[in-house]
Amino acid sequence: MKKEGKLMEKIVALAKRRGFVYPGSEIYGGFAGFYDWGPLGVELKFNIKQAWWHDVVRRRDDVVGLSAAIIMNPKAWEASGHVSGFADAMVECKKCHHRFRADQVEKKCPDCDGVLGDARQFNLMFQTHVGAAEGSESIAYLRPETAGGIFVNFKNVLSSTRVKLPFGIAQIGKAFRNEINPRDFVFRTREFEQMELEYFVKPGEDEEQFSEWVKERFTWYKSIGLKNVRKREQEKEERAHYSKATTDIEYEFPFGWQEIEGIANRGDFDLSAHQKASKQDLTYFDEEKKERYLPYVIEPSAGVERIALAALCEAYTEDGDRVVMKFHPRIAPIKAAVFPLLANKPDLVKKARKIYEDLQKEFTVAWDDRGNIGKRYLSQDEAGTPYCITVDFDSLENDDVTVRDRDTAKQERVKMKELAEYFKKHLA
Ligand code: ATP
Repeated sequence: MKKEGKLMEKIVALAKRRGFVYPGSEIYGGFAGFYDWGPLGVELKFNIKQAWWHDVVRRRDDVVGLSAAIIMNPKAWEASGHVSGFADAMVECKKCHHRFRADQVEKKCPDCDGVLGDARQFNLMFQTHVGAAEGSESIAYLRPETAGGIFVNFKNVLSSTRVKLPFGIAQIGKAFRNEINPRDFVFRTREFEQMELEYFVKPGEDEEQFSEWVKERFTWYKSIGLKNVRKREQEKEERAHYSKATTDIEYEFPFGWQEIEGIANRGDFDLSAHQKASKQDLTYFDEEKKERYLPYVIEPSAGVERIALAALCEAYTEDGDRVVMKFHPRIAPIKAAVFPLLANKPDLVKKARKIYEDLQKEFTVAWDDRGNIGKRYLSQDEAGTPYCITVDFDSLENDDVTVRDRDTAKQERVKMKELAEYFKKHLA
């Protein structure tokens, strides 16, 4: 097996062993395209979402948040073109009947070498039924992206807030796509979370705003510690017909460069489609110009699991026999672990417990009093915890503790009362 394949295998194994990611419904044999996030994974995803929300919504005056329903009136998906056109070309092997995305296979079946049939369109939206009566009238869809909920609430947000162009509406939430070939671990799954921003601008200012957002989003990845990222402008043939420009942000995974976020200049495609179908006026009144128009929209759209996978790949480091997950402190699942040197010495445990409970008020911290200190360090290194704090006999005399740095393994003594400040500074 190639080196890259081995690396992915190791990451998948560690993810399961340490509770980042489990195969979905595993005791029933799994379920292709679905994964469950364990105790460390859920913290990692939460930190990624929090970092995004903080930088895209809370730290800006021009963006507000939204949490729309996953299931919407199906008319919204008809208007957006998803019912008729959210499809991938699919081919089926005539021998083993396995199905593949047409753009990902050659003429022969990758599983059995059989001949592939003609391509046909396969809609990726999951269908469900709403209400007790099942019929064509009750069909609804699990949203394939979160953006739809933003566009249908454009008017509500305009009238309930004081936003003025340019402004954005942001949303984080689940999206569902019945992918033909879920693959590459959590890279392509059938249920995932998106972090999407619809940034509305005056027509004519869209190109400048688009470049700003590409820059902004690219530098954001550095702020969570992803170094192997690049921008890639999509060619005209790759882009959706309404998109004036699309730039992908890609990460270099062990299986190659792949998209983790797409930033698109969508013009007024969405608002105009919803205005037409809903027969509601979705225009914006420009007080300066004294005129009404449909704003254009810039859409940065990112996937939480793809970023989490990129973070796992970026963090994975082997040092001899030991694995260190070098997460950026901003997204590390646990920020610090607290150890009493010996679990059977009540004085040590009491003091360590006090530190643990104090830090818990501000940070995600872990407690470990099993085995020897060396083993505890190894375990926290695999979890990616940036700092370990040990309370020893000197701590009882001097009110200080040993703080050990994950990446350098260097240790220093820090006064107990300065610990919160110490971490604020080092985790910033
Ligand atoms: P791809 O070409 O890889 O299928 P896309 O261009 O269809 O992706 P978008 O519709 O632009 O993706 O969705 C925005 C983001 O949502 C993507 O950059 C990705 O991070 C995430 N995403 C999309 N589909 C999936 C999926 N099946 N599994 C996990 N994340 C996804």
